[in-house]
Amino acid sequence: MQTIYYDLRDTKGQQKEIEDKISAAAKILREGGLVGIPTETVYGLGANGLDGKAVKRIFEAKGRPQDNPLILHITGPQWLPRYCADIPPIAYVLARKFWPGPLTMILKRRAIVPDETTAGLDTVGIRCPNHPVTLAIIREAGIPIAAPSANTSGRPSCTTAQDVLEDMDGKIEGVVDGGACAVGVESTILDLTCEPPRLLRPGGLPLEDLERLIGHIDVDKAVTTPLQEGEKPKAPGMKYRHYAPKAPVTVMTGAPGAAAREIQRRVGPTSGVICFDEYAHLFAQQEVHTLGPSTDKLAQAQRVFDALRTFDESTVTEIYAQCPDNRGLGLAIGNRLKKAAGFHIVETDSQRVVLGLTGGTGAGKTSALRAIAELGGTIIDCDAVYHKMLEENQELRNAINEKFPGVFTAEGKLNRQKLGQEVFAKKDRLEQLNAIVYRFLLPELERQVAELSDGLYAMDAINLLESGLDRLCDKTVAVTAPMELRVRRIMARDGITEQYARLRISAQKADEFYRGKCDEELTNSAETPEAFERDAKLFFTRMVESLREEKRHGGV
Ligand code: AMP
Ligand code: MG
Repeated sequence: MQTIYYDLRDTKGQQKEIEDKISAAAKILREGGLVGIPTETVYGLGANGLDGKAVKRIFEAKGRPQDNPLILHITGPQWLPRYCADIPPIAYVLARKFWPGPLTMILKRRAIVPDETTAGLDTVGIRCPNHPVTLAIIREAGIPIAAPSANTSGRPSCTTAQDVLEDMDGKIEGVVDGGACAVGVESTILDLTCEPPRLLRPGGLPLEDLERLIGHIDVDKAVTTPLQEGEKPKAPGMKYRHYAPKAPVTVMTGAPGAAAREIQRRVGPTSGVICFDEYAHLFAQQEVHTLGPSTDKLAQAQRVFDALRTFDESTVTEIYAQCPDNRGLGLAIGNRLKKAAGFHIVETDSQRVVLGLTGGTGAGKTSALRAIAELGGTIIDCDAVYHKMLEENQELRNAINEKFPGVFTAEGKLNRQKLGQEVFAKKDRLEQLNAIVYRFLLPELERQVAELSDGLYAMDAINLLESGLDRLCDKTVAVTAPMELRVRRIMARDGITEQYARLRISAQKADEFYRGKCDEELTNSAETPEAFERDAKLFFTRMVESLREEKRHGGV
């Protein structure tokens, strides 16, 4: 199939020629064909939204999952009753204020809208785009145009007609070039079938603008945090790893300066960087695409997809991206970057969060700690603190010496073997030693935690709960695993027999102990440490995000 290119960048020229092009595009659409169309947000891939067969072709051309509905584009609120039922008055209030513009409303659908368009849902997403060319095409065609973003599924959205041709040339009947998109990120999706209304996708219309007009809006969880396996977002499209360049992306949140420094610490010669203009000079060795000034979110929105897309033609092995704060368009820009990163986020300077990890041998505490370190977290090794104190803290040494005479040599060195022999044979002796250690360790760590700067920390302590160190943590996490997996893991890890592995496990506290005493449980039933580390990263990202949210609102 040959894709016809219609240049409509200049609509002030030859009126006849312009009208002919608009009529041609409208005709293709009326006859069941596909046309790439410009909007203020991103380019759309349009078809007659009332023609199930035509709409089906959109899914084929994009390789789009069947369960992901399309947005219906109309010329204004007067068309709403044709396609929607039970329209609440607030829909008209919003349409009057923000249409034409980057706001998609979810409303009850009428039967005239085919299942292909709504992916079988009983609701429909509908909006009036703010682009004169596309509005003229819809008006001329006299039908609502179903259009998702014009990219191949999984690639960044298209913000120029060239992007559309790159993905769709030969697969669709036409592309209408209306110039580069003014907004650059997709529309804001607001569900009006619930009370209060719910933000399903942040986009070109800031949440604050909506709330100023209609009051509080709930923000769907899928906007800020990754979905757990099997979880269904209310906007089906939010579950896909959209906008993904080929190289893995890591997003740095936090103040621009701190984020840039963290990227600097991590980059190598084959890394790519997406950053604000002010910081580009720090990355002379790397391939860099800038987002515009750190204070200009409109520029950032316009450029974010282009930056991600450009890296597809590059040989970089990883991409680090700076990320604006969540205010205004920042929520949408950050959401697109984070989705491109599969929510692989490193927080460089947000509030302090201290997690406490505990669990029995072979459960996966070490992998869980590694996941936290990869998220930019710092591990507080309580065992190391204890050993340092054993050498330097005279009061602690005296206390031990009193209860365990003779474990220090004449030169003042601790004879660990001797102390070990004393305590590991007799339970009450071990308890006596622990009581002394905890008495000194707890205030020392309390002091250290109080001095920590903002950021993410994880406390690695053998007896986190027994020692009282859990009190210093914002949340405690029990890392647990099915018994048979633990047995197999420690057999492989330490090269020991099954019988001995079982003995080691049974000498420790059971999972139930940790489960009952910790705030949360992270169960490791993954096949490989890598798979578990991935699970753990999602788990901790979500936990930290909600902890910070609580702290922001004065909780905890
Ligand atoms: P795209 O145009 O590619 O950004 O895709 C349209 C987006 O709108 C997807 O994320 C869809 O999941 C979402 N959407 C469309 N219709 C509905 C609906 N009825 N309910 C919820 N989300 C919808
Ligand atoms: Mg899309």
